[in-house]
Amino acid sequence: MKYTNRQKILIVDDEPLNISVVAEILGHEYDLLVATNGEKVLQIVSSDPKPDLILLDIMMPGMNGFEVAKRLKTNPETLHIPIIFLTAKHDNESIVKGFELGAVDFVSKPFQKEELLARLKNTLQIFNLRNALNRALEKSQQYAKTIESQMKLIDKNIIISSTDLEGRIIEVSDAFCKISGYTKEKLIGKMHRILRHPDMPSSLFVKLWETILNGDTWHGEIKNRTKNGSFYWLDTLIYAIVDDLGYKIGYTAISQNITDKKRVEELSITDQLTRLHNRMYLENSFNKEIRRAKRYNHSFAVIMLDIDHFKEVNDTYGHDVGDNVLVAISKVLSEHIRETDILGRWGGEEFLIICPHTSSAEAYTLAEKLRMSIDTCPIDLIGHKSCSFGVSIFDLKDESFKEVVKHSDEALYAAKNNGRNCVVEYKG
Ligand code: GH3
Ligand code: MG
Ligand code: MG
Repeated sequence: MKYTNRQKILIVDDEPLNISVVAEILGHEYDLLVATNGEKVLQIVSSDPKPDLILLDIMMPGMNGFEVAKRLKTNPETLHIPIIFLTAKHDNESIVKGFELGAVDFVSKPFQKEELLARLKNTLQIFNLRNALNRALEKSQQYAKTIESQMKLIDKNIIISSTDLEGRIIEVSDAFCKISGYTKEKLIGKMHRILRHPDMPSSLFVKLWETILNGDTWHGEIKNRTKNGSFYWLDTLIYAIVDDLGYKIGYTAISQNITDKKRVEELSITDQLTRLHNRMYLENSFNKEIRRAKRYNHSFAVIMLDIDHFKEVNDTYGHDVGDNVLVAISKVLSEHIRETDILGRWGGEEFLIICPHTSSAEAYTLAEKLRMSIDTCPIDLIGHKSCSFGVSIFDLKDESFKEVVKHSDEALYAAKNNGRNCVVEYKG
């Protein structure tokens, strides 16, 4: 079939001569279909493509033009095809009836060629516009539906919160409510910082505000507290919201729940009994500190300590009491080190502390403070327990952490030989 974008006109008249007169006029500009009775019209319009306009005679034997129009207008498939009555019957009553049946125009027979063409063109133009408008409307309704369902998906699955410039919550997604345990009503109007977990250092938030106040996007990991006191970890992006005029009016945070990842990470670097860092974490920290020390030409100190006569505890009171002693001493250590010190369980009843940017004398003082704190700390059932300490300094000549550890181990050995419960510095 030859492709044509010419519009299709269906000419309906019981008189073939009339059809040929109209066809002669329209044939140059339009594709034509013809029908000499109502049944034929219904047959033609039942298949696609449908005509773009119907020129319909009123007086026909069998089904007349009014009846045909009625049938077309009650069928949703053909309802939109414009009909122009082309008829000798142009009394007022017929005209009113024709319009009532949905005709868009009347052309009286006999007609002027120009009048027919003009009315036809005019009608087609209006209907083409109307069709284009309907298509655009349908499309925009589809878009609106898609956007609405996407918004619902986002609300349900993406953790989003928006605040004003001071950090007061103005909007949260359902996913945000779900993870935090709060309802939307409880959150709106509150300061975002009510969700902060006490584990988070305030320095992180200082940096965060510095970044967003500067107009930059902040990206980082935040531990938050849920309504019932537990926690969750988020990988968060925070950026400014601006109004139509470009003024900053608040901030939006989009987050991903990384609690499980953090749990696995934490497990892999944590000693399960004492909850201190494990040996793997300490070894990684060593490598980091060595790189930093080399770059800035700093030294760092290593303190190694070992519980004195620990075997006796196990032998006398049993392994569980021994475990409790390990936990109690870990607690004393955690409470007395500085925030920048890295403490962990090196193995068995040995602990290790990396003290960045620390001199030998400072490390000695810290070790002595720890020794006294442990020695004077009352421990259930057994009373007191002491530890021996070895201190060494990372020398820029040292190649690996093994050498630093070996030095503090030697100092510790000397402390044991010295009668235990004392601190010995490695002297090279
Ligand atoms: P020293 O003063 O010379 O260090 O004597 P010590 O008895 O502390 O040293 P030794 O190396 O002879 O014994 C260490 C003991 O620590 C032996 C081991 O069974 C015990 N131990 C190691 N890890 C654990 C643990 O996780 N729990 C308990 N309860 N005991 C442990
Ligand atoms: Mg020991
Ligand atoms: Mg030991």
